[in-house]
Amino acid sequence: RISICTILILQFRFYIYRLLLPHNEILQGVCVSLFTVLIYLSFFLQVDFWQPNSATLICQNATVDVHVKRNDTRGLHARLKQEHIDYRVFISNLQKEIEKQTGYRSSRKRRSESQYDYEVYHSLEEVDVKTHTDLVDMFSIGRSYEGKPLYVLQVGEKRSRHQKKAVWIDCGVHAREWIGPAFCQWFVKEAINSYHYDSVMRRLLNQLNFYVMPVFNVDGYDFSWTTDRFWRKTRSKNHKFHCRGVDANRNWKVKWYLSLNAFWCDEKNGASSHPCDDTYCGPFPESEPEVKAVAKFLRKYKKRVKAYISIHAYAQMLLYPYSYKYATIPNFNCESAAHNAVTALYSAYGVRYRYGPASTTLYVSSGSSIDWAYRNGIPYAFAFELRDTGYFGFLLPESLINPTCTETMRAVKAIASGLLKKCETDRDKFPYI
Ligand SMILES: [Zn+2]
Repeated sequence: RISICTILILQFRFYIYRLLLPHNEILQGVCVSLFTVLIYLSFFLQVDFWQPNSATLICQNATVDVHVKRNDTRGLHARLKQEHIDYRVFISNLQKEIEKQTGYRSSRKRRSESQYDYEVYHSLEEVDVKTHTDLVDMFSIGRSYEGKPLYVLQVGEKRSRHQKKAVWIDCGVHAREWIGPAFCQWFVKEAINSYHYDSVMRRLLNQLNFYVMPVFNVDGYDFSWTTDRFWRKTRSKNHKFHCRGVDANRNWKVKWYLSLNAFWCDEKNGASSHPCDDTYCGPFPESEPEVKAVAKFLRKYKKRVKAYISIHAYAQMLLYPYSYKYATIPNFNCESAAHNAVTALYSAYGVRYRYGPASTTLYVSSGSSIDWAYRNGIPYAFAFELRDTGYFGFLLPESLINPTCTETMRAVKAIASGLLKKCETDRDKFPYI
């Protein structure tokens, strides 16, 4: 049912343009029929899709969050009423919500002060990566398109670090998902602080290495602070089009065995080959220096890295391969790891996460990092979609950083603890595609 819907929509070839004007509105509508959705979309081309992140992924009975120009809202309301599409305005003054997180900078606690504040969002230059303790080392794995260093923090007890299994965690692949970098920083802080009193954390750090990349898409994240709060992609230039950037979660070399590069960017499966789209997969796999650097690092350490975790927002989901096709991982017990993780997460504040293969739980997407990680022999590959489910969307208030990170911490610890059990991760027995 879903694939038919996708194909039909594709025939219309929408190009979605991003607009960031003050006093915009977020609308959450429930699509009642495919035909209605098509009329609605063709009537209002100038929408920024929040969830799902592309018009091609809209299906019947799905919830759709869109960001619309204020001037378009009156006409849109009328049109939606006419088509009997239910909707709610979630955020009626977007500019005000943005300013809550970026304004009043001087009165906030900053890095220059003795106490780094983990409960506010930090701009790229504020993000604290220079933490050197007995448990943490910082290094760079390359440079971004704009030449910024790509920092990774290695967290773990340092003595036997060369033999230990490792867990990779990246945050901030998509620029506008600010809770991601907040979580990665929280993770490092919590790991260091709780090492001395939490026996579970001590065991994890003694027996595992964590590679934490607080801001994957550094150029995009910076741009989301300085220019466009809802920027998603990287910032690379395109030869033919004025539009910049590539979706760093559609740029991975998945399905490479199909010889032609074209197959990694599957238009029917949630990626776009148009540079102006938010899900643009790039001119070729690993075209983005950020993706290339991480892929290179993971290839180098693939014998040790047993879990790949990518932190995104928003949807409250825990996803695992496959993203690009409607299939489950063969003979692999990822589901119990996911179940344990969401149960641990729920135990903190009772927040429920859905979990399952990304293709059926969220939507299909080709060229994603979890598919790549799994295909490259990392048995546990997960993508978190953190809070919330659309009420605040990408503008999750700073007051929710603490509970969101606290509960996510429990889930990540559950996944990492699973690696210490002797099962499932035997490479020889591990079935690939
Ligand atoms: Zn994302």
